[in-house]
Amino acid sequence: MKRIIIIGGGAAGFFCAANLDETKYKITILEQNSDVLQKVKVSGGGRCNVTHACFDPRELVQFYPRGNKELLSVFTKFQPGDTMDWFDQRKVALKIENDNRVFPESNSSQSIINAMLDETKRKKVEVKTKCSVKEIEKLDGKYLVRTSLGDFEADVVVYTTGSSPKSLKMIENLGHQIVDLVPSLFTFNIKDELLKDLAGTSFEMAETSIPKLKTEETGPLLITHWGLSGPAILKISAWEAITLAKVKYHFEIEVNFISTDPEDAEERFQQFRQSNPKKTVGQSKIFEITNRFWQRILEVSKIDLNKQVANLSGREMQAIIGNLCRKRFQVTGKSTFKDEFVTAGGVDLKEINFKNMASKILPNFYIAGEVLNIDAVTGGFNFQACWSEGWLIAQDLNVNA
Ligand SMILES: Cc1cc2nc3c(=O)[nH]c(=O)nc-3n(C[C@H](O)[C@H](O)[C@H](O)COP(=O)(O)OP(=O)(O)OC[C@H]3O[C@@H](n4cnc5c(N)ncnc54)[C@H](O)[C@@H]3O)c2cc1C
Repeated sequence: MKRIIIIGGGAAGFFCAANLDETKYKITILEQNSDVLQKVKVSGGGRCNVTHACFDPRELVQFYPRGNKELLSVFTKFQPGDTMDWFDQRKVALKIENDNRVFPESNSSQSIINAMLDETKRKKVEVKTKCSVKEIEKLDGKYLVRTSLGDFEADVVVYTTGSSPKSLKMIENLGHQIVDLVPSLFTFNIKDELLKDLAGTSFEMAETSIPKLKTEETGPLLITHWGLSGPAILKISAWEAITLAKVKYHFEIEVNFISTDPEDAEERFQQFRQSNPKKTVGQSKIFEITNRFWQRILEVSKIDLNKQVANLSGREMQAIIGNLCRKRFQVTGKSTFKDEFVTAGGVDLKEINFKNMASKILPNFYIAGEVLNIDAVTGGFNFQACWSEGWLIAQDLNVNA
């Protein structure tokens, strides 16, 4: 019986193992840590955002700053609906939240872990923990995997080591090109009077842009202790991960807190002014923002809160609209988003056959998961890439045993 060695006991490696035909292969997972699936455990704040309820592959790939072209064919074969079915068949009830993120109904990542552990146990997959792979040697038609627990011979290697730089070096030594690693999915550090002491204030729909890069995103926005976060920021951080690393996270952003054209916002304000001339500016919050934020907008726009709206000058009005709709901030660094981060960069996608995730350079060698130069915005998409790629490898091996 042929032997498959899966290097890395994370999402991609385990999902591959759980879908392999155990009657055709002897399957072994090698994991350097004392526990497997550790990232799944802590994912989604311990709840595991297992996938995203987006069932059209063309739409789905739009969430992947790196890998969007390549993943289209992968998602055509295994997409979020298939992930949901897979867990459903193993009695893991899933739920779709309002923003389309999918979680186990138990709100515990352990349900996801248990399903994969049960399946691999049933298939008699051998799992060796505290087994750190040091080197892979290509022999005639086989691989010799050298580890801290001794050497293993493999007919097939599945390489799913995540973003560990040491393990990327190992695959580079086998001839693969590595695209430089940079962090993706981070929040922006900003010091500005407008945000001071307002941590926790959120905006349902905001627009953020980096004028110099001509890039913009919309989505919910959140003021944090360090600056700005929320999907409108995280999406930009992912799409511009490489450029922002180059400028060492120092750049200017523009924010429209109410996602409304400045001209439209001014017209709404003018109409309010005409029908409520005697109201004070402080009482005239007409946009969907908190009272505290409105007061702060007035403060930084240097407007007397007790002034009647009818008496606002054109310059004062412009200052308010400018701070609400065209506010520029200087970003001076980045912070981690709820400990969740992914890494852009990794094995060059040109060297992968996306029909089956096989290396184009090494025979009987498959690569999947975060070790590849593929990453997504937050929302369950990073795991979905792991599930789809792992499944595709298993299918290929099951058919071509
Ligand atoms: C805190 C946090 C929360 C997250 N939450 C979510 C979420 O809710 N939804 C989502 O879609 N994504 C989430 N992500 C991203 C997601 O966790 C990753 O994209 C995913 O885990 C990548 O899976 P992987 O199998 O490629 O790598 P990993 O999960 O990193 O697994 C790789 C495994 O290989 C092992 N390994 C590495 N080198 C060796 C070696 N030389 N020898 C032996 N073993 C080795 C590692 O120890 C590790 O266990 C989160 C990330 C973080 C950090």
